[in-house]
Amino acid sequence: MDLIVTHKLIKEQEGYTVILYLDNQLTEFATEFNKKPENKKIDLNTSVRNYIKEKLPGLKINTVNIMIGSILIASIPLASLGKTDLNQHQNIKEKLQTNVIQSQINTNTPNIYTVKYGDTLYKIAKKFNTSIYDLKTINDLDSDIIYTGQHLTIPAQYDIYSVEPGDTLFEIAAVYNVSVEKLKSINKLNRNIIYVGQNLYVPKLLYYRYTVKTGDTLYIIAKQFDVTIEQIKTINKLSGNIIYKGQTLRIPDFDKDTIVINPVSRLALVNKNNRLTENYAPDNLVVPNIPFPYKEYYPKKLMREDAAYALEQLFNKAEEDGIDLYATSGYRSYSYQEYIFTSKVMERGINIANQTSAKPGESEHQTGLAMDVTSPSVNFRLTQSFGETKEGKWLKANAHKYGFIIRYPVNKEHITGYNYEPWHIRYVGKDVAKYIAENDITLEEYLGEF
Ligand SMILES: [Zn+2]
Repeated sequence: MDLIVTHKLIKEQEGYTVILYLDNQLTEFATEFNKKPENKKIDLNTSVRNYIKEKLPGLKINTVNIMIGSILIASIPLASLGKTDLNQHQNIKEKLQTNVIQSQINTNTPNIYTVKYGDTLYKIAKKFNTSIYDLKTINDLDSDIIYTGQHLTIPAQYDIYSVEPGDTLFEIAAVYNVSVEKLKSINKLNRNIIYVGQNLYVPKLLYYRYTVKTGDTLYIIAKQFDVTIEQIKTINKLSGNIIYKGQTLRIPDFDKDTIVINPVSRLALVNKNNRLTENYAPDNLVVPNIPFPYKEYYPKKLMREDAAYALEQLFNKAEEDGIDLYATSGYRSYSYQEYIFTSKVMERGINIANQTSAKPGESEHQTGLAMDVTSPSVNFRLTQSFGETKEGKWLKANAHKYGFIIRYPVNKEHITGYNYEPWHIRYVGKDVAKYIAENDITLEEYLGEF
C-alpha cells in the first residue's frame, strides 16, 4: 500500500521542511498510531525513506512532518529516521481531539538560528560554514552545551573590522552599506563612540575580485560597479588613490543572496538569489563522450560524472533519431565567471552586466550539472532561434527522459530571472525532470521557491 500520496516543501533559512501527506483514508491508522503498532511505525519509516529517496533525491531536508489532512501526526528530524521512535514528541490522540493545526513555517529572524532537537555546536557551525569558536564567541557561550529552542546568532554573517584612526561609526556604516543603528545593535553599542583598535562586527561583505587594467582609475571602477571610492579603498586598505595594472582589487557586492548550502545536490538551486561560494567545485568532473564543435580540451567540456553519463545517453538517442546535437559549454569555475562578469561590468556598467551575465557564484554552470547545447543549423551559436529548429524541438521533447530540463523556458523570465534559453539544459535526475516537464514548471517552482 502506498501510504504517502503527496508532499509539500517549505524552505527554511537553509534546507527544507518536508510535509508528507498520508492517504486520508488512513484515519484509522492515525488513531492506532499511538498505541503500539511497532510494525506500522517501521512501515511508515520505510515508506518515508523510500518516498524521499525516490521523489526528493538530494534535497537538503531538516525535518519531515507527517500529516493526515490537516493533522500533524509526527515530526521527525531526517537524521533520526529509522532510529527514533516516530511519535516521541507527539501525542496523536490529543492532536486528533483538539484538531490542532501546527504551522511549521520558520519564523526565525535572519541571522538568528533556533536550536533544534539533535543539534550540536559542531553541526550548526558546519551548517553555516563557521567555526565552533566563532559561534561561542559571538554568543558568549562558556561551554559547548546548547539546548533545544535556544537562539543563536550566526557569526558567519559578520566580519571583524578593526577601527583605524579617523574612523567614525557613520563612515564604517557607509562602507558596509548598513545604518548606524544596525551597526550599533550588531555590536551592542549604546553610544556612538568607538576607539582605534576596537574590533567591530560588520556585515559580511560579498565582493568581486577585479584585476586592474591599463587606463583604469578608482573613479572609473567605482562608477562602473556603482560603489563609492571610499568603499573600495576601505575594503582594500588603500591609503591613497593610486592603483596599478595587475593589482587585484576587491569590489563590494551588496546583494543579499542566500548561500547555497547543498551545492552537491542534484537539485541545488543556483540563480540570481542563491549563489555558490567561491570554494565550491564539483570533485568528479569528466569530459562526456559526445560531439563538441572543437577538438581541443577546454575546462568547459567538463560535467559532473552523473550528469555526463546521462548526457551521453541523451546524445546517443539524438543520433539514433538523426538529430545533430553538439555540446558547447558545461562546467565553469567561480573565478572564470568572476572574470567574465567583472569584464562586462567595466565595459557596460553593473546594471547591464547584471541583465546579461551571471554574477560569480550565481551561474548554474558552476554546479557541473548544466550544458549548453547547439546544432550546425544555427552555426553552433547559442541563440533563441535554436528553439525553432528540428534539433531544439527534439531536445525539448526528449531531455526529461534522460534527466534534463530546459532550465530557462520561454515566458518564465519572471521566475527564473533569465530570458528564454532553449540551449541550456540542467541535470536534475529522471523523476524530477519528468515532473517538471509534464507540469510545464521551472526548478524554482518545483522547489517551492516561487
Ligand atoms: Zn548555459
